[in-house]
Amino acid sequence: MLSTFYSKQLAIISNLEHTNLSKPSLYLQVAVPVPMRQLFTYKVPLNLQTPSIKLGERVVVPFAGRQLVAVVITMSVCCEFDENKVKAITSRQQDEYIFTDSQLNFLHQCAHYYHHPIGDVISQALPVLLRQVESVDIKKVKLWQACVENNTDESDEPSLVDTLALLSKRSPKQAQLYKIIQQHQGITWAELRILGFTKTPLNALVDKNLIVAKAVQPQAFTWHDKQLNQDNKLALTVEQALVVSSVTQKLNAFSCHLLEGITGSGKTEVYLQIIEAVLAQSKQVLVLVPEIGLTPQTLSRFEQRFNLPIFLHHSGLNNNERLQTWLAAKQGSAAIIIGTRSAIFSPLINAGMIIVDEEHDSSLKQQDGFRYHGRDIAILRARQHNIPIVLGSATPSLESFHNALMGKYHHHQLLKRPGKSVEAKIELIDMAVQQVEQGLSASLIDEITQTLARGEQVLIFLNRRGFAPAVSCQECHDIIHCLRCNKPYTLHQEQRLLICHHCGSQKRVPKQCGQCGSVRLLPLGQGTEQLEQRLAEMFSDYSAVRIDRDSTRRKGELAKLLQQVSDKKHQLLIGTQMLAKGHHFPDVTLVAVLDVDGALFSYDFRAAEQMAQLLTQVGGRAGRASKPGKVLVQTHYPQHPLLQDLVNNGYHHFAVQALTERKLAHLPPYYYQTLFRAEANYPSYPDKFLRALTAQPLNGCEFAGPIPAAMEKKAGKYRFHLIVQAKQRRDLHKGIKQLLANIKQNPWHNKVRWSLDIDPQDLSW
Ligand SMILES: [Zn+2]
Ligand SMILES: [Zn+2]
Repeated sequence: MLSTFYSKQLAIISNLEHTNLSKPSLYLQVAVPVPMRQLFTYKVPLNLQTPSIKLGERVVVPFAGRQLVAVVITMSVCCEFDENKVKAITSRQQDEYIFTDSQLNFLHQCAHYYHHPIGDVISQALPVLLRQVESVDIKKVKLWQACVENNTDESDEPSLVDTLALLSKRSPKQAQLYKIIQQHQGITWAELRILGFTKTPLNALVDKNLIVAKAVQPQAFTWHDKQLNQDNKLALTVEQALVVSSVTQKLNAFSCHLLEGITGSGKTEVYLQIIEAVLAQSKQVLVLVPEIGLTPQTLSRFEQRFNLPIFLHHSGLNNNERLQTWLAAKQGSAAIIIGTRSAIFSPLINAGMIIVDEEHDSSLKQQDGFRYHGRDIAILRARQHNIPIVLGSATPSLESFHNALMGKYHHHQLLKRPGKSVEAKIELIDMAVQQVEQGLSASLIDEITQTLARGEQVLIFLNRRGFAPAVSCQECHDIIHCLRCNKPYTLHQEQRLLICHHCGSQKRVPKQCGQCGSVRLLPLGQGTEQLEQRLAEMFSDYSAVRIDRDSTRRKGELAKLLQQVSDKKHQLLIGTQMLAKGHHFPDVTLVAVLDVDGALFSYDFRAAEQMAQLLTQVGGRAGRASKPGKVLVQTHYPQHPLLQDLVNNGYHHFAVQALTERKLAHLPPYYYQTLFRAEANYPSYPDKFLRALTAQPLNGCEFAGPIPAAMEKKAGKYRFHLIVQAKQRRDLHKGIKQLLANIKQNPWHNKVRWSLDIDPQDLSW
């Protein structure tokens, strides 16, 4: 529909070029990065009309007193407005960074599906540097390469072989870095950083004349003629081989595959061998992963297997590095792009396949502004390019699981681990009958003691950062609250701060109670910081390390801590959800989850699914063939049917049961939901705004709410939710369209801030 529209516009333009009008008027309809659901019309001054303007080009336009970069969506020779009131564009960004028809089409589909302003969607798809009015001067990519040895036999210099032998003895880190660099004809610092290297060994290798940096234009990469490195290729199991052959037989058309493989079943090897088939066709592969800082092991597998240009896209890159990835995708010089959620907007010139690893992971959903789901638009994109997409997970989302069971996706299962290793077993600890010390049950302490005594590692999982989730007065029992959120402050002892985890506000820990003046202020409850301290005291013969957002804030810190864990410098690992993603800890044989009860009774219907995913994932991080792992879960409700099902029957069975419950309760994936959020300084405004929305009946849709949000007050604002849901997606979208068309007539419209979340994933805030 859109493409025919474009061709009509093009026809007008080409007619225009053939007529000999002395002063042809030309109008552009452009997408401007503002939260308004419309295009804006500008005229083009004569001096800017040559060379002819292309659709998808960036132009600079005056908008509300500012100069903004806009993208040309359509053009026309006539204008429906008074010509004298139409403003002119200021300038054109005449460079090669132009959206193609197919990219614009994809972005339009996204805007349409999420009912989100097209200007904002397009802006998010552009690297920051291309959103700027100043013209862009792309820096060259600096590539590290191994020096070629001078083959002069008479030379007194020690040979490269000798130097390297010495290196691996004296400085193994440098040797390791050299090996990686040598394997590649060029590797960027960004990649090396992700792999956990620091500048120290890099500089040392430069001093030894073993490596050099070469600056190249991003488009200078060539890879189509390169041989793939076959050394690290693993032999596939029968299960794995079946998946690889089934997917690679369908490379030249759209198909969606759910790869459900238990942890440790070798999903990555399956990806690698499928990717190999795509690369052999000289096509590009896009791989979406959860937060990339957390997946150095996956990246290093890719780096070792493919001696080809791999480009990264994630929040740790600077603007220039991001633009380089974008360009490399667009110019075809990137063979593989690995990135987080927004990498889905990479402008692949020759797309061959999309892989979404850990497709259940919540980080794939953007939680503010343009609230898209990376996995869902990846499917849209694959369909548009007519290429296959593989969604992989040990614990698929119920949405994908449902689509696979319904036959919409090809469903592949990997039920066995290669070799002899077995999945960790989950056991429940009934807290009601246990003696508890520092949040740890007597049975757990006993197990930790035994595991450490065997020389193995223990991972303790607590999804609560900080020292304590609250500070209370011993005299008057007052709890110190963030007044803007009505929630207790979290105590961060290391920083000596009270931090509100909801709005981020902080203050110094007071010496006295603000209510009664008592100095007897005490922390309530336990966070990871405190747990680390207590464990260090209880098991003082061993080293404890904490891995959470606070302890890994500095760049490179996470990779460093993980390396220390794998070098067995620490025996006790304490961490939050971060540790459940992507890593494998072969010497961890005991995983303890301290608190799951919140998820069992949460009013967010997804909480149980997320808990089951988490328990299965953390279990999968532990153990190896010779040392099977064990997962202990502390709960006050060991008889809870969800827990029992998961423990006895595993995630797949749990998911089937959970789907039955969702169906009975009219919840996703059987119903489609949209969440309206509204907030204001007074509670009555958002309530009335949302209530007014429910006044219009919508065909095939039902309303739930408005109700106060779970976080009823946040950062000083009162917040309400309204859910609109329907059995048919089409009805829901029609209904939303109708609501949006009339929203300016809503009398409360200007008194609240509201937002729209299609297919919301998190109802808790
Ligand atoms: Zn007090
Ligand atoms: Zn707050």
